[in-house]
Amino acid sequence: MSYDYDDQNVFARILRGEIPNETVLETAHTLAFRDIRPQAPVHVLVIPKGRYVTYDHFAAAATAEEVIDFTRTVARICADLDLAPDVGGGGYRLIANSGADGLQEVPHMHVHILGGRPMGRMVQPA
Ligand code: AMP
Repeated sequence: MSYDYDDQNVFARILRGEIPNETVLETAHTLAFRDIRPQAPVHVLVIPKGRYVTYDHFAAAATAEEVIDFTRTVARICADLDLAPDVGGGGYRLIANSGADGLQEVPHMHVHILGGRPMGRMVQPA
C-alpha cells in the first residue's frame, strides 16, 4: 500500500496537542471530537491515532486491536450521545469521505457521525 501520510495535516496536529479540540471520547488507539463546522446538531469526528490516510488504508493496514478499538468507540459514542436506535435514539449517518471524489479535506482517516435530525438525501444530485 503506497499511501504517503502528511504529518502536518490538521488532525495530526490535534493528536500532537498543537491544536485544541472538543474531545468526546479518547481511548488507547482512537480520538473522537466535535467537528469545528457542525453540519447537524450532533457532528462528531472519530479518528485513529495511527498514521492512516483513508478509510481503505486503515481497514487494510491497521492492526486488529486498532480496528476493534475504533469500531467500538463509534458504538460507544452512538450510545453515549443517545443516537443509537436501541437506546431510543433517532439514528445517525456515518460518513468516511476518502480521496478526491469523496471530497476528503483532511488526509487523516476519519469518520463523521452525524445525527440529531433527519439527514436527508444520502448523496447530492450531480
Ligand atoms: P472531510 O471533508 O471528510 O475531510 O472533513 C474534514 C472535517 O474536519 C470537516 O468537517 C471540518 O469541519 C473538520 N475540521 C477541520 N479542522 C478541524 C478542527 N481543527 N477541529 C475540528 N474539526 C475540524
